[in-house]
Amino acid sequence: MQKKLLIVGGGYLGAELAKALENDLEVTLVEQRRTFVHAPAMIRAVVKPALLDSALLPYDKLLSKGSVVLGKADSVDEYGATLVDGRRVNADYIVIATGSSNGVAFKPESDNIDDFRTVITGLHAQLKAAKSIAIVGAGTVGTEMAGEINDAMSEKKITLISSESSLFPTMPTKFGASLTSKLKKSGVEIRFGVKVDNLKSLTKPYSGSLHLSDGTLIEADLIIPAIGSRAESSLLESLPNINKEKNGRVKVDSYLRPSTYPNVFAAGDVASNGDAMTIVAIGRQIPWLTKMLKASASGKKLDQLKPYVPWKKAPLFLPLGPNKGNSYLIIATFGNWVTSKIKGKDLFITKYRKLFGLKV
Ligand SMILES: Cc1cc2nc3c(=O)[nH]c(=O)nc-3n(C[C@H](O)[C@H](O)[C@H](O)COP(=O)(O)OP(=O)(O)OC[C@H]3O[C@@H](n4cnc5c(N)ncnc54)[C@H](O)[C@@H]3O)c2cc1C
Repeated sequence: MQKKLLIVGGGYLGAELAKALENDLEVTLVEQRRTFVHAPAMIRAVVKPALLDSALLPYDKLLSKGSVVLGKADSVDEYGATLVDGRRVNADYIVIATGSSNGVAFKPESDNIDDFRTVITGLHAQLKAAKSIAIVGAGTVGTEMAGEINDAMSEKKITLISSESSLFPTMPTKFGASLTSKLKKSGVEIRFGVKVDNLKSLTKPYSGSLHLSDGTLIEADLIIPAIGSRAESSLLESLPNINKEKNGRVKVDSYLRPSTYPNVFAAGDVASNGDAMTIVAIGRQIPWLTKMLKASASGKKLDQLKPYVPWKKAPLFLPLGPNKGNSYLIIATFGNWVTSKIKGKDLFITKYRKLFGLKV
C-alpha cells in the first residue's frame, strides 16, 4: 500500500511537490484558497490588472491522482491535520508549506480571491489618478514595483525609499549599481539611507506625507509599503519544541524538520533553513524533498540520506518592466536582454499555467 503524504499549503512549494509525488505516494494537498496566486505577476498586475486572468490559477487540474482539499488547517500533529471545520486528514508524512504574507496588493490578505482582485483593481485606479507615488522599501518587490510603474506610466513622479546605502547591498556591486542607474535614467528618484518615521501602514497603500529620518518630508498621492514578507507560521505552534524567528519563520533542522516529530517537515517561506524567502529557493528544496520522501517511503532511514544544503548565492532576477532589468546568475550580473528573456516578458506565467494544467 502507498504511504500517505499530507501537504498543508498549495503555494509554490506545496503545489509543485504534490505534483512531483502524486504517482509515488497517496497525496492530499490542503489549501485554503480556490486559486493559486502567482506572486511575481502581481506587481505588474497593479499596472495591468488584465494579467490577473492569467496569473490566478484554479487548483482543479493540478493533480490527476492526488487530491486537493479546499479548507484551512487549524492544527497539525505527527498523524496529520485537523481543519478549521473539524475535518481530519491523516498521513504518514506531513509537509507544512503555509508560506508568507506581504503587502495587500502583493499577496491576498484572506482566503477570498475576489477581495484580492478588488484590492488590485482598486490600487490600479488609485495609481492612475495619482501624480506622485512613494514606494517604501527597496527590496525586490519595491524595486520591481518602481520599474513596473515607471515602464507603464512614465509620467508619474516616483520616489523609491531605502534605508540602505545602495540597492541590493548583499549582491555583487554591479547588480545594484546597474539597476540604480536604469531607474534614475528613467526618472525614478531613489532616496538612500533614510528611514520613514511615520509609516501609517505596513501593508496597505494610502495617501499622505512621509517624515524621513534625515528631517525631510515627502508628500505623495500614493504611498505603497513594500517592506517584505512575514511567515505564516501560526499552524506550527501546535508542534512540540519549535523555534520561531523574529520574521515568523520557524527553524528547521538539516532534514527540514521543525519539531521533534521525525515525519513532519516544513519548507518554503515558512521554514528557516538558510535560504531566502523566494521561489528560487523553493526550486532547490522541491527536488530534495521529492527524493527524500520517495526514499523514506521505500524504507530508507533519513540518516542514510544526504541532508538539505541551502543556496550559497541564489540567482536573482529583477525586471524593471518587460524589457529592462538585471539578473544575477551563478557568478555574473546580466542586463536587459537576459532578464527580459528569463523573467521580464512572461514573469514565469507559462511555467505555472502548465503546472496547473491550464492553456498557455
Ligand atoms: C509580489 C511578490 C513577487 C515575488 N516575486 C518573486 C520572484 O519573482 N522570484 C522569486 O524567487 N520569489 C518571488 N517572490 C517570493 C515568493 O512569492 C515566495 O517565496 C513564495 O510565495 C513562497 O512560496 P510558499 O509555497 O512557501 O508559500 P506561499 O506562496 O505563500 O503559499 C502558501 C500557501 O499556503 C496556504 N495556506 C496558508 N495557511 C494555510 C492553512 N492554515 N491551511 C491551508 N492553506 C494554508 C496559502 O493560502 C497559500 O496558498 C515574490 C513575492 C511577492 C510578494
